[in-house]
Amino acid sequence: MTDSHATSAYGRSVADACRRLGYGSTVETLLTLAALEIKVEIPIIRDNGELAIFTGYRVQHQNVRGPCKGGLRYHPQVDIDDVRELAALMTMKTALADIPLGGGKGGVACNPHEMSPRELETLTRKFVKRIHREIGPNADIMAPDVGTNAQTMGWIHSEYSSIYGHSPAAVTGKPLALGGSLGRDKATGHGIGIVVAEYARHCNTSLQGATAVVQGFGNVGLHAAQALAALGVKVVAISDSRSAVHRNAGVDLAVLSAQKRSRGSLKDAEEHDSIDPETLFEIDCDYLVPAALGDAIHMGNVARLACRTIVEGANAPITAEADVALRERGIAVIPDILANAGGVIVSYFEWVQNLQRQTWPLERVDAELTRILGNAARAVLVHAGEGSLDLRSAAFDIAVRRVKEALDATGI
Ligand code: NAD
Repeated sequence: MTDSHATSAYGRSVADACRRLGYGSTVETLLTLAALEIKVEIPIIRDNGELAIFTGYRVQHQNVRGPCKGGLRYHPQVDIDDVRELAALMTMKTALADIPLGGGKGGVACNPHEMSPRELETLTRKFVKRIHREIGPNADIMAPDVGTNAQTMGWIHSEYSSIYGHSPAAVTGKPLALGGSLGRDKATGHGIGIVVAEYARHCNTSLQGATAVVQGFGNVGLHAAQALAALGVKVVAISDSRSAVHRNAGVDLAVLSAQKRSRGSLKDAEEHDSIDPETLFEIDCDYLVPAALGDAIHMGNVARLACRTIVEGANAPITAEADVALRERGIAVIPDILANAGGVIVSYFEWVQNLQRQTWPLERVDAELTRILGNAARAVLVHAGEGSLDLRSAAFDIAVRRVKEALDATGI
């Protein structure tokens, strides 16, 4: 993230919520500070025999409502400021969803696309060896994020269990064979569909024939596009880090997935127009879903956006300054702590299933996700309407109030 901590969207949102709610600076400070920040150096021998050292981080922001919960990111630009802010967002996300978890986040500065499976496994296992005393089912539970997946979580489960005994609840987003939950893979994108459906219902607009543009073709982008298409929305353009495609009739996600698997890129996909990824946000659409990395929408491109509503699939995809500019332009934003909360909600179900030694059928996972995320979306929409607030402010009001009430109850 390029914003400084003081002007970050998170810091400003918390400060504004504390002011609206009449809380003093103590609460604001407690919600801005992280409880624990870990930095470790991880040496591994690369396949070419050379030593490489990677820096890893884990930040536990708040555990007053439950154990810390949050993803693990493998990306070259991971740094402590970024991880700290993402951990804080998780505290707000779990509070808004009203699930009994806190906020955490981790990352390793590496490029997983340039590493072999053996190197990634060694890196992951060594990271767990370094931080195992601070994580676990009742302390801090990791999950997949950018550059990590179910396989990564499987290695974490295996390494942690080799120290503490079989501990599936120590990590979520695992392979099904190791106690993963049905529906976790699609949960974040599927949740975006649930939230957009609630939003459209609230605004009394139809999704049939509405248009969307999605940035990112990873876990969140692909499943969000599928969920929107299932609601009757035409996804007219989609991108990955190096390529983008456009089709007025709606992109063919099956064709694009097959091409991405075989050629690693969306470029020149049959019956689609390849476009410059830089022009993606200029395409006219009802819903723009940034589902790649943070700070995708900034002062350099905000004036060129041609959407009516932004749905934050990624975490913090809008800089603080661009967020203000969007409000001035009248472009609505469905904030990350609501829009992409489906992932952590189904991670919570996975944790519950593991602790209770149960396996829920997919229908139960989907129904519970729809109930919990639908409740959160309706609460935000109602509060925004009552207080004449934008949706981010409304979401932060609800989340901040819940964390403050828990802090009060502990006597802090
Ligand atoms: P991922 O690694 O599966 O996919 C990321 C995608 O973004 C890839 O397709 C990559 O090519 C693309 N990308 C990177 N830079 C891009 C650019 N400049 N333009 C277009 N595309 C680009 O990661 P993910 O799990 O899908 O996570 C995406 C975002 O969603 C992150 O912000 C993450 O924190 C957030 N998120 C993920 C989850 C989850 O369950 N995985 C849950 C909540 C939030």
